[in-house]
Amino acid sequence: MSNTCPICFELFLPPRHQPYILFPCGHTFCKICIDSCAKNNKTCPFCRAKFATIAPNLSLQSLVQMANDKNQDYLNQLRQKRDEMVRNGTFSESHNQANNSALRQMSVQQQSGKSIIDAAVDHAHVQKCKEELKLMTIKAEVMREELHLAQTKMHSSREAIKTKEHSLNLLSAEKNDALERLRKV
Ligand SMILES: [Zn+2]
Ligand SMILES: [Zn+2]
Repeated sequence: MSNTCPICFELFLPPRHQPYILFPCGHTFCKICIDSCAKNNKTCPFCRAKFATIAPNLSLQSLVQMANDKNQDYLNQLRQKRDEMVRNGTFSESHNQANNSALRQMSVQQQSGKSIIDAAVDHAHVQKCKEELKLMTIKAEVMREELHLAQTKMHSSREAIKTKEHSLNLLSAEKNDALERLRKV
């Protein structure tokens, strides 16, 4: 069962898009879509069966809510981590320690020449690159997660298009049928 309404593609989340199940056909649509396109003639937008009654689809609703919360939590965690690293200028504790000890070494052994300074600079550079790599990895993770959400949404849009095409076929079959009958009259 899809997480999104097959008519408007929105996630089944209350209050506006709370999922409602139609009886007896069992198809589910969001509140707004039922209100706007099924209420008057009381036929299911998918199978066009007359429905007698509707009820909130609570099990689907809680599933959607749970999945959504989990996704948002994960994405927020990643974003927080990313923002933190950006705020800290990507310098970690270990990097600062390494830098300090390198500087101490430099001041003690200043006379012994250029090579120690070079080594310290190299070391600091390597640390900085490592931190940048870490930040990039997290950024990539955020983007991957966002891509995943977009793909999920695209998938349900495709499903929605299929549903619409199905309804369209039914409608045109009905139209042909009506024309046929009209011709006989
Ligand atoms: Zn809808
Ligand atoms: Zn139906």
